Amino acid sequence: MNQNAADPFVRVRGAGENNLRNVDVDVPRDALVAFTGISGSGKSSLAFGTLYAEAQRRYFESVAPYARRLLQQVGAPHVQEITGLPPAVALQQRRGSPGSRSTVGTLTTLSNLLRMLYSRAGTYPPGAARLDAESFSPNTAAGACPQCHGLGVVHDVAEDLLVPDPSLSIREGAIAAWPGAWQGANLRSVVRGLGIDIDRPWRRLRKKDRDWLLYAEEQPSVYIEPEEDRVDYGYQGKFWSARKHVMHVLADSKSEKARERALRFVRSVPCPACHGSGLRPEALAVTFAGRSVAEINAMPFTEVVALLRPAAVRSGAGATTSTARSGETTEVAVRICGDLVARIEVLLDLGLGYLSLGRRSTTLSPGEAQRLRIATQLRSGLFGVVYVLDEPSAGLHPADAEPLLEVLDRLKTAGNSLFVVEHDMDVVRRADWVVDIGPGAGEGGGRVLYSGPVAGLERVGESATGQYLFGRAQPLEHRPRTPHGWLRLRGVSRHNLHDVSVDVPLGVLTAVTGVSGSGKSTLVTQVLAEVVRGHLGVAPEERDEAQLEVDVQDTSGVESFDRLVRVDQRPIGRTPRSNLATYTGMFDAVRKLYAATDEAGARGYSAGRFSFNVPEGRCETCQGEGFVAVELLFLPGTYAPCPTCEGARYNAETLEVTYRGKNIAEVLALPVDAAAEFLSALPAASRSLETLREVGLGYLRLGQPATELSGGEAQRIKLATELQRARRGHALYLLDEPTAGLHPSDTALLLRQLHRLVDAGNTVVLVEHDLDAIATADWVIDLGPGGGDEGGRVVAAGPPAKVAKARRSATAPYLAARLA
Ligand code: ADP
Ligand code: ADP
Ligand code: ZN
Ligand code: ZN
Repeated sequence: MNQNAADPFVRVRGAGENNLRNVDVDVPRDALVAFTGISGSGKSSLAFGTLYAEAQRRYFESVAPYARRLLQQVGAPHVQEITGLPPAVALQQRRGSPGSRSTVGTLTTLSNLLRMLYSRAGTYPPGAARLDAESFSPNTAAGACPQCHGLGVVHDVAEDLLVPDPSLSIREGAIAAWPGAWQGANLRSVVRGLGIDIDRPWRRLRKKDRDWLLYAEEQPSVYIEPEEDRVDYGYQGKFWSARKHVMHVLADSKSEKARERALRFVRSVPCPACHGSGLRPEALAVTFAGRSVAEINAMPFTEVVALLRPAAVRSGAGATTSTARSGETTEVAVRICGDLVARIEVLLDLGLGYLSLGRRSTTLSPGEAQRLRIATQLRSGLFGVVYVLDEPSAGLHPADAEPLLEVLDRLKTAGNSLFVVEHDMDVVRRADWVVDIGPGAGEGGGRVLYSGPVAGLERVGESATGQYLFGRAQPLEHRPRTPHGWLRLRGVSRHNLHDVSVDVPLGVLTAVTGVSGSGKSTLVTQVLAEVVRGHLGVAPEERDEAQLEVDVQDTSGVESFDRLVRVDQRPIGRTPRSNLATYTGMFDAVRKLYAATDEAGARGYSAGRFSFNVPEGRCETCQGEGFVAVELLFLPGTYAPCPTCEGARYNAETLEVTYRGKNIAEVLALPVDAAAEFLSALPAASRSLETLREVGLGYLRLGQPATELSGGEAQRIKLATELQRARRGHALYLLDEPTAGLHPSDTALLLRQLHRLVDAGNTVVLVEHDLDAIATADWVIDLGPGGGDEGGRVVAAGPPAKVAKARRSATAPYLAARLA
């Protein structure tokens, strides 16, 4: 079947995708192949953009000949020839889209099995009819709780949100949730008409009255006498309780602003009818091993396995009868439980035993989600496939990387090829083959420096990877600092943190470490962020469904911060309309520059004309997007270059205006390095461009759409935007794994910049697994010792050298080895 079966290599000839320079490379099949190189060198362009894209194109051609025309439009990868290429599956790291209902159970397809178990083999209440599998899913009409429509949460108001300052009277605006202006005044008149004192501080009103004002369903009307200052006629005024008003706005208001405001007064609480499970009562009444499907969904995998194992190994099971109340002792139960246990054990092997089936995929880290997908693939039984993976070690503590490599080995042994884009040198060392791209990024990269067994890379002088792989790179110089003070948190409880005390040093760089699930993100990106945000009085950045009240008993030291900055890997924009230039603000300066040219003056073009979002300046065919969407049946939204402007985004007249020989579209096409030279006369842009180069992003094009940037690039753009402020500060910077997706040499660049922030007086706290980063921290807080219930405690805290000696710490042995 495979005409290349005799040749054990995939052979690529003339690859030119993105920055690749007519690359020829041969990589072995049935092997673990690592693609390495600094950020922007072209690893993904080769592994995903060429190899995976070509495999996918061939697949679609074979299944759907009519897709050929469309695929041509989208553009096949830029490559002359590839031989020996098996079908490919890509496991990229993407965050689940917000609002998605997918869970760990749906992602792994384990939920389907579990529903089948409850449907066919559960224990039913007397007289109840057997339910089909769908009825155990909150996402189907048959299964959804009628009260919350399967969401598991309902929005409700709460007194502390409705009345943030109870020392105010109603006249002074105690009920913040009520509307302002005329409507608010009207409500106050109504309340007074109902005999409630509107000048008494809220907290001194009777509880009965307070509750009525906030929650009453009834809406009595009262006659409002003419008032001098407000109305000169009498009228019937209707009462709206605060809840009634907020719910009315949420349900009916057409104004996005009004609804956003109303959301400030509600909190998501578990649905009282289904206790957050989203399931209807009939489904919740069915049990297996004494538990409802909702209970199993909420249990960590470790417990689910323990619960189901006895049923999986039961002998002497009988046949199912449709009339029996319980199918727990049947053959079906044994089979399904056996399958569930075997599949969950793979997840335990991968260190994911602390997750539960019901956990929302949006709350998973990209690394957790990718490992779930890897485990799911392992059970798919496919062979002869190439798996193309994006940094599988990302987000992994060194202790968790070992089992992952074993799982990859199992996929390989089953007859598959593994192509991984990887930065962790410990993983690279384990590869059968390494393809190193470089030597630089963008224009300065795109060549294959080496392709062969790992040991041979040592002889390649110009390879940055070789430097780190064989220990020739200079470690970052760093003199440890002493803290200016402490932020002390007492009685922290959230997820697996129970009444924990944590001291965060001020004015230094701290790394929070620990195995996956130990509680690092919970502590740093949730609790710490919320405490400081609360102190600063700013609203949360985005509403998290599971947003709880900050659960910290006591804090001190928080007053030393005047700003909180989270530098995360979330995209800098969700549409191709945002890009590097617009995000950093430098595009405003560039547009003004163009408006100030003589040509623009003569034509009467203002700065607005040079925005691809404005009708006068943009290409009308693509409305300034540069791309048009192509609908393909199987592919998620795909884009093709705009036929009119060929991606320039502007109309022809706008492009006639030039500065130093380039039109505005040509400026957007420049990489940062070249733009720094071209725009050197423009101070507002130069500063941005310089900092972008300092964080290692000199290769990015100014107009590169936000949607084409990796998480690591997005994070560094945010960091550069911060650095560009370059003033002394008392900010707290929180970063969740800033080194994920970075080559060790890029990590070194990034760390240097983070230390600059600390030198300017700020405090930096990182969640981190990278040992180079941990080793240069001033302070380490190690959580654990394990994940989930086995974690959540501070195992060790102190300078890296001290933590490296801690007894029960999973980090200590690795850190000790690095410091040695
Ligand atoms: P790596 O994976 O090594 O970080 P990439 O293959 O993602 O590097 O990128 C290599 C070069 O191609 C970079 O200069 C990058 O800016 C550019 N590039 C990446 N994706 C695209 C794209 N979709 N369109 C145009 N250029 C791109
Ligand atoms: P880490 O960052 O160290 O990997 P996390 O803080 O993400 O650990 O998780 C710590 C524990 O809290 C784990 O048991 C995890 O399953 C649980 N957890 C984290 N986020 C959520 C959430 N949104 N809902 C429920 N449990 C969560
Ligand atoms: Zn419900
Ligand atoms: Zn166009």
